[in-house]
Amino acid sequence: MFIDSHAHIDGQEFDADREAVIERAHGAGVSVILNVGTGDPHSDAFERAIALGQQHENIYTAIGTHPHDARLYDDRAEEKIRELIQNERVIAWGEIGLDFHYDNSPRDVQVDVFKRQLRAARECELPVVIHTREAEAETIEILKSEPESRGIFHCFSGNMDLAEKALELGFMISFSGIVTFKKAEELREVAKRVPLDRLLIETDCPYLSPIPYRGKRNEPAFVVEVARCLAGIHDLSIDEVAQQTSDNFSRFFRL
Ligand SMILES: [Zn+2]
Ligand SMILES: [Zn+2]
Repeated sequence: MFIDSHAHIDGQEFDADREAVIERAHGAGVSVILNVGTGDPHSDAFERAIALGQQHENIYTAIGTHPHDARLYDDRAEEKIRELIQNERVIAWGEIGLDFHYDNSPRDVQVDVFKRQLRAARECELPVVIHTREAEAETIEILKSEPESRGIFHCFSGNMDLAEKALELGFMISFSGIVTFKKAEELREVAKRVPLDRLLIETDCPYLSPIPYRGKRNEPAFVVEVARCLAGIHDLSIDEVAQQTSDNFSRFFRL
C-alpha cells in the first residue's frame, strides 16, 4: 500500500472527475492521500479541502497559507486556520515556507508569515509541511530560529547540503515525480543518501507528473512511479519502499 504524502485534489483541475481519480488511486494501491488545501485564506479554499477529507476515510487534510499567498495572511487568516485545524481530519499545517523563484509575495512578507505559521503550528501541536524553492539558506535559518518545529520538506528538489540540514533538524523528506526526471541525477544521489526511515513519497498533483506520465495531469495513482524510482535507487523492491514510506507516514503523524 502506498501513501501519497502531498496532493492537491480539491482543486478545480479535478472538478470533472475527482471521484474517478480517487477510485484509480485505490485501484493502484494508494491507501492514504494527504490532500493539501491552499489558496486565499479568506476564501472557502480550506473549507473545501476539509470537506473532501470528511467525505473520504483515507484522505487526510493539511491547510496553511502557501508562500505564494503570504501577502494575504493576517490575524484573521491565522484565527481561521487555528479554528479549522481543530477538525480531527486535519493532521498538518501547510504548506508553508518560502518561494523565491516565483516571488508571488514580497520576500520579507514570506519570511514573516512563515515564522508566524511555524509558531502557530507549534502552539497547536501540529507538524508542518514545508515548501521551499530557491530559498534554502533562509529556510534553514528560520527553522533553526524556531526550534521544536517538526515536519516534512515536501517535493524535495534541493542538494545534499539542504537534505543534511533538514535531517539534522529532524524533518522528513518527501520526493515527488521530479526524482524520476532524466536530468535529476543529482537529486537521485540525494535520495540515495536519505535514511530509509525518513523517506516519504508524494505526487504534488496536479503538477509534476512522474515519468512515464510527464506532460499529463498528475494524480495520486502515479505515486507508484515515485516509489518505483526510489526502489531502484535504494536497491529495494517496490513493495518494500511502499511499506517503508507508509510506515514512516503513519509513525510521523501518529495515525
Ligand atoms: Zn509546494
Ligand atoms: Zn503542494
